[in-house]
Amino acid sequence: MTYQPPVSAILLAMRTAGRLGSDIYQDFSAADAEAILGEAGKFAAEQIAPLNRVGDKEGARYSDGKVTTPTGWKEVYRSWSEAGWNSLAGPADYGGQELPMIMAVACTEFWNAACIAFAVCPLLTAGAIEAIAAHASPALKERYLPHLISGVWTGTMNLTEPQSGSDLSGLRCKAERGSDGTYRITGTKIYITYGEHDCSENIVHLVLARLSDAPAGTRGISLFLVPKILPDGTRNDLRCHSIEHKFGIHGSPTCTMIYGDRGGATGWLIGEENRGLNCMFTMMNNARLLVGVQGVGVAERATQAAFAYARERRQGKAPGSNDGQSRIIEHPDVKRMLLEMRTKTAAARMLCMATASAIDESLRASNEQQRRKALARASLLTPLAKSYSTDIAVEVASTGVQVHGGMGYFEETGAAQYYRDARILPIYEGTNGIQAIDLVMRKLQLENGETLTLELEHCEESIARAEKEFGPSPFRAVMSRSLAAFRACAAALSSAEPTLSLAAANPFLRALATTLASGYVMNAACEAHEASEKQQIFTYANFFAATEVALAAAQCETAIACATAIKSVKLD
Ligand SMILES: Cc1cc2nc3c(=O)[nH]c(=O)nc-3n(C[C@H](O)[C@H](O)[C@H](O)COP(=O)(O)OP(=O)(O)OC[C@H]3O[C@@H](n4cnc5c(N)ncnc54)[C@H](O)[C@@H]3O)c2cc1C
Repeated sequence: MTYQPPVSAILLAMRTAGRLGSDIYQDFSAADAEAILGEAGKFAAEQIAPLNRVGDKEGARYSDGKVTTPTGWKEVYRSWSEAGWNSLAGPADYGGQELPMIMAVACTEFWNAACIAFAVCPLLTAGAIEAIAAHASPALKERYLPHLISGVWTGTMNLTEPQSGSDLSGLRCKAERGSDGTYRITGTKIYITYGEHDCSENIVHLVLARLSDAPAGTRGISLFLVPKILPDGTRNDLRCHSIEHKFGIHGSPTCTMIYGDRGGATGWLIGEENRGLNCMFTMMNNARLLVGVQGVGVAERATQAAFAYARERRQGKAPGSNDGQSRIIEHPDVKRMLLEMRTKTAAARMLCMATASAIDESLRASNEQQRRKALARASLLTPLAKSYSTDIAVEVASTGVQVHGGMGYFEETGAAQYYRDARILPIYEGTNGIQAIDLVMRKLQLENGETLTLELEHCEESIARAEKEFGPSPFRAVMSRSLAAFRACAAALSSAEPTLSLAAANPFLRALATTLASGYVMNAACEAHEASEKQQIFTYANFFAATEVALAAAQCETAIACATAIKSVKLD
């Protein structure tokens, strides 16, 4: 089934949760956004989407240190970057278009819906661009940013080592100071996405490593730029040892990288020695958000496939049907599944767009206080956008398999691939468990709790506005109950012992994400221009409230009890 870019749904998310049209976007109009969305959607559907199946079947191949991407990958990557799509968000000083984050997020959804295994490569390049732009020396910026922004070169993130995944304090990769201001890097990194491939001339690795005199733990980690090809055109002392055989995203090479077989790969320090994690954290908001957007993309694709199948497949008789077999889309239980898929995807899209808009405001607002508050808002929303969107991606893709019945279990329909591909998303870029801990232990207290309070107040305003516009509906009662349950849970967690907060963090994050996303969807129903679109979104928002938000209230009510129960259980 072909991919239909959901241009109007994305534009609505940009206008409402993304606040396109507000002061921070004076230089960027809805007409600009619409024109870009039209072109990007076309490219995604016509050129990238056909790679999806072939990438899954062929996978990336390894031989003698070289990685070959699946058929068509190289050619599409070249025409995609030559068309300027890699440069959307990059800094203008180095050839980027410096468009707002809401625009980058919108296009990221297209690329990932079309083929997530292909699109993860530029997502990592974007992270490398951001880290270099924020922390590298002017000389490194001059040498690397133009090529990374044009997409002629790609970037990677090298954090993970066998003994060091979620916890980076145990990193062992070594760095030694050279006499010429460069560093010699030695060690092994695992699971490195696009660590080696044949789509670009050079690969710029950002590597976390430890100097011999560095303090132990995370305070002794430095960040280095280690290119595959050195400025003099020779090969650096690094190689891909092997690639992994994975559950999904087969087209994306996941590499074991060896640095320093011949005495040490040449690297350049980014930022200050021992401050590498701080440099990484600068780009965490964006990278985590973009992984959330990958979730929205794959959920949208799975939803479209499920709708298409349900419109064709005939089985049984739906209530009220008189002639022959009904299309399965008419069966109430299938309708329920399809609505669940569509509304969860829409909610995640709104949440990601709200996060992108907060990032934009933190960079574009005219006064310092507004920028600071926006940054706090972006920091609060980021773990929600990452976790919620990637969790629902797995759920939506799984429901998509169910809608297909037995056919969903076979590879021909593609439904199984969406499920397999989605499964990595809650794991990489900080597992969703780590995101929830980040929310509960750090983000709730931002600006003395004011950031969260304001977001909940906005949610309440959306409820009141919707009631004014659409009249009384069950939505209000459900949302009010959820907000009250959430506030009670947040208060209880703020004074709870850490073990309790850590155990309650995951359901707590889900409850908050669902409630806030529901407010954004309701707001979108109020803002939609056309009466039919308005009514449809209102209907979706009510369905989402009746199913998901109602559960969120229950999750809050049980989070502490569940955490207490966990505490008393001993597992060996
Ligand atoms: C396909 C793929 C691509 C990847 N790409 C890259 C890449 O490009 N660059 C890179 O550097 N890495 C990459 N990774 C690595 C990825 O980021 C890690 O797998 C991830 O951070 C989790 O680390 P881990 O696998 O060691 O799991 P672990 O850290 O061992 O975690 C196992 C489980 O324990 C939980 N857990 C761990 N610590 C805690 C804690 N303190 N509190 C509560 N729960 C905890 C986790 O949430 C998880 O559920 C990739 C991984 C995969 C599978």
